[in-house]
Amino acid sequence: MPETVPFDQRKGWIWLDGQLVPWEDAKVHVLTHGLHYASSVFEGERAYSGRIYKLEEHTERLFESARILDMKIPFNEQEIGDACNQVVQAQGFEDAYVRPVVFRGSEQMSVAAPRAATRIAIAVWQWPSYFDPAQKMKGIRLTVADWKRPSPETAPYKSKAAGLYMICTLSKHKAEAEGYHDALMYDHRGFVAEATGANVFFVEEGKLVTPTPDCFLDGITRRSVMALARARQIPVIERHIAPEELGRFSECFLTGTAAEVTPVSEVREHRFTPGRITETLMHDYMEDVRKEVSSVNLRASA
Ligand code: PMP
Repeated sequence: MPETVPFDQRKGWIWLDGQLVPWEDAKVHVLTHGLHYASSVFEGERAYSGRIYKLEEHTERLFESARILDMKIPFNEQEIGDACNQVVQAQGFEDAYVRPVVFRGSEQMSVAAPRAATRIAIAVWQWPSYFDPAQKMKGIRLTVADWKRPSPETAPYKSKAAGLYMICTLSKHKAEAEGYHDALMYDHRGFVAEATGANVFFVEEGKLVTPTPDCFLDGITRRSVMALARARQIPVIERHIAPEELGRFSECFLTGTAAEVTPVSEVREHRFTPGRITETLMHDYMEDVRKEVSSVNLRASA
């Protein structure tokens, strides 16, 4: 399916409120609470060789995101995990992106909507690389966003909530209009936080340094990459990072389910050379996402 086909005109199956429906029939009304008041949370997962990497972690986070936004998903985690697998199979893709979304329905249309149903849909599509594959090895170019990640008492930052992406979209639009691939966002205190849809890591004298996730998403890929680094005896330091420090780091990369491990070559005036640690972790991550598959296949054939 060419990438230019609008998302509402693609083919296949979408899981909606408990059943698979033809892709073109997976519709909601314009008077949907989620659309007006951002009462919506979602996940981004990737299937490799037909199996969703870290499915349990993603499903757990989806339920926690919904709980934080005071929404109760009318299924259990096992059912939603199974439904994600079911859609991957129905779409017939080996490698694919999986998007569950939970939102308040149309039963009530005001800020408070305790009687609105909690609805859930799961769609699967092919999304080869978040960033242009030709650019990926060279490293992507980041600018710095004008918007700041809000403080914990301003926004429910532990929820992967649609509303939190408003400033991400604005920042990424501006970055792309200025010729960059993405934007690095600082937090409400001015510390380095993350990119618009991925976490950030730096290398300083053989050590991995990454911001403490105290006001932005503690990504599942971030945690996987930290574990992979430690398995290689690469020290990992989580701490606040001031913008003035950017010039001290030799390497920089982003992590995320969609972005995987993506080298960064510049953040405005600062230059980075994707080197040994970035390459090692890119490689180890791609091995890890496939390894889980082979151990399951081994179990299945035993
Ligand atoms: N931060 C933001 C804002 C994101 O959208 C994502 C992607 N979900 C991440 C970080 C990385 O999270 P994960 O590794 O769990 O995909």
